[in-house]
Amino acid sequence: MQEGWEISSGTAGATVWEPALDEAARHWQSVARRLTAEAFAPRAAEIDAAQRYPLENVALLSEAGIDRLFLPAPYGRGGSLSALCAVIEAIAEGCASTSGIVATLQLGANPLIEAGSEPQKQAFLLHEDGRLKSVAFALSEREAGSDPAAMTTTASREGGAWRLRGEKCWIGGGGVSDSYVVFAQTRPGSGHRGVAAFLVDAGQEGVTAPEREDKMGMRGTVNARLVFDTRVPDDAVLAEPGDAFRLALSALKVGRISVAAQSCGIALAAYRAAAAHAAARRTFGRPIIDHQGVGFRLADVSARLSAGRMMTYAAAAAYDAGRDVTLPGAQAKVFCSEMAHEAVDVGVQVFGGAGFVKPSLVERLYRDQRATEIYEGTSEIQRLVIARAIKAEQEARQPLAAVAAK
Ligand SMILES: Cc1cc2nc3c(=O)[nH]c(=O)nc-3n(C[C@H](O)[C@H](O)[C@H](O)COP(=O)(O)OP(=O)(O)OC[C@H]3O[C@@H](n4cnc5c(N)ncnc54)[C@H](O)[C@@H]3O)c2cc1C
Repeated sequence: MQEGWEISSGTAGATVWEPALDEAARHWQSVARRLTAEAFAPRAAEIDAAQRYPLENVALLSEAGIDRLFLPAPYGRGGSLSALCAVIEAIAEGCASTSGIVATLQLGANPLIEAGSEPQKQAFLLHEDGRLKSVAFALSEREAGSDPAAMTTTASREGGAWRLRGEKCWIGGGGVSDSYVVFAQTRPGSGHRGVAAFLVDAGQEGVTAPEREDKMGMRGTVNARLVFDTRVPDDAVLAEPGDAFRLALSALKVGRISVAAQSCGIALAAYRAAAAHAAARRTFGRPIIDHQGVGFRLADVSARLSAGRMMTYAAAAAYDAGRDVTLPGAQAKVFCSEMAHEAVDVGVQVFGGAGFVKPSLVERLYRDQRATEIYEGTSEIQRLVIARAIKAEQEARQPLAAVAAK
């Protein structure tokens, strides 16, 4: 695919910039687009209305290998983050919830791939028939979301094992996953330095998911409260105190770029629907796109959507090239999620009354989009990360400036 505005196969249309993907990523993108067109998009409204976890979509993702695309062999297909972004974006265009399922599977598996021993990977990643097991990422608590070091779930030594006690909140895949990566405090009062990570089988005694959240959007994904009062052996330790927090942040760095891609997919869906409607709907004797108040808003979305895609695929390419993506990931997430906020808002406005009542595509997108500004670090937390990088840059420059002034 050619980079730029001149495209033949993209779904966005020539007014939105298209990334130049390598052959492997293009292959995965076309698989995702086909599944989205044939299965995910046609079911999206029903899944949303029923707040139903779409097991048939999960099966299709598994059959196509999309669930393990980003994991290295022998556990996965060794795909790049650029390929994963292309897939998540393409699926989000048709069914944001199903793209959320893909992102959730990656978020849970990544810490295991990064820090797990071979026996841990064998036990927690693969079914006997080779299918991927699902692992959920259990970090947040009701009183510890943006500030997870304040967590109160504890891990203490008891009878030669670890006893885990506490509750996790809003956990993606909670109650439907095979296992959990649970972050717990081993030395209360010691902040992030005392946090360790454990692999916990979802079916073992003392692990429950008492209720699922009733959500405004992303209603085809499952988020649940998890309650732990259980024991795990030493070989369930995935990361020791001191390493676990870094492991969580490392998974979130990748996850944030995936959320940026998801935001672009949602924005593309809203933009395409709004542009088509604005060209067809007439008031005062002309298509509404010819009224400057409508045309200019769409122009803004096309410009920002193009910029957001550039940031997302640049951040993914930086990751694929082995570079640290703390800053570009935070920049891409905050920009793209807020860009998508504007895109869905314009979508509802352009459709007028038809955009406000159900069933309406833009109404669903409006609700689904909102989560992208909250999970995997809110917009404020992304700005905090960026501001810290700006400060570090200035502090690194000051000694040089002092030398130059002499
Ligand atoms: C759909 C969904 C899926 C999720 N999936 C998972 C999952 O799979 N695993 C998991 O562990 N968690 C998950 N979460 C939890 C999510 O990561 C947290 O909700 C998020 O980190 C925010 O934490 P909080 O809700 O406690 O908000 P709070 O931390 O209470 O923040 C409230 C508000 O204050 C702002 N704020 C907080 N601190 C600062 C600061 N220092 N400066 C400026 N503003 C600040 C926040 O930005 C926010 O606007 C999910 C949440 C949702 C909604």
